[in-house]
Amino acid sequence: MEELELYAKENNIPIMQKDGILYLCKFIKDNNIKNILEIGSAIGYSSIMMASINDDIRVTTIERDKDRYTQAVSNIKKYHLEDRINIIYGDACDIEVEGIYDLIFIDAAKGKNTYFFEKFKSNLNKDGVIITDNLSFHGLVEDSSLIKTKNQKGIVNKIKSFIEFLDTNKEFITTYVEIGDRISISKRRIDNE
Ligand code: SAH
Ligand code: MG
Repeated sequence: MEELELYAKENNIPIMQKDGILYLCKFIKDNNIKNILEIGSAIGYSSIMMASINDDIRVTTIERDKDRYTQAVSNIKKYHLEDRINIIYGDACDIEVEGIYDLIFIDAAKGKNTYFFEKFKSNLNKDGVIITDNLSFHGLVEDSSLIKTKNQKGIVNKIKSFIEFLDTNKEFITTYVEIGDRISISKRRIDNE
């Protein structure tokens, strides 16, 4: 996996940070998670890490960038995980996924978190969890003096409104973990019926 980490670093591919992916893998193990839907495969790093936890785990992952998708396919083959990782090429906005998942991991366009959360929650198991990455955006969400461009400002505003969406959500209850680029963990409220 060091090879993939190095490749991502050299080519500016925003794979999960090491502590973040290790936390996620431990969470998957501790909660006996088997079926995972990931939005944003990049080169397959996180899906390979998750599928490598044990042989019962199956991952469906979506990537819209052709080059990254192609690399992910080849990396998944390299690790002999093509039977357990189903990678879909396309824009997750347009793709309808069948099946029910124990975990939905949202790690795609930072501005689309609310949209993906709403779109894919119907694919979530009753006791399932939605985890979203990059809620800090390298500190820009907490410290606006770090914002340098209009584009960054737009992303920060969208992340803030996603956090607001989670904090006021009647169906899901969310906790945040200060790991990697900050993640959220959302579960259905027990009283929700
Ligand atoms: N989960 C990966 C990193 C994903 S980086 C890992 O940790 O290894 C985010 C990826 O999401 C990028 O490769 C980007 O092309 C993809 N992406 C962004 N918006 C998307 C969309 N609407 N549909 C599918 N993929 C998307
Ligand atoms: Mg990320």
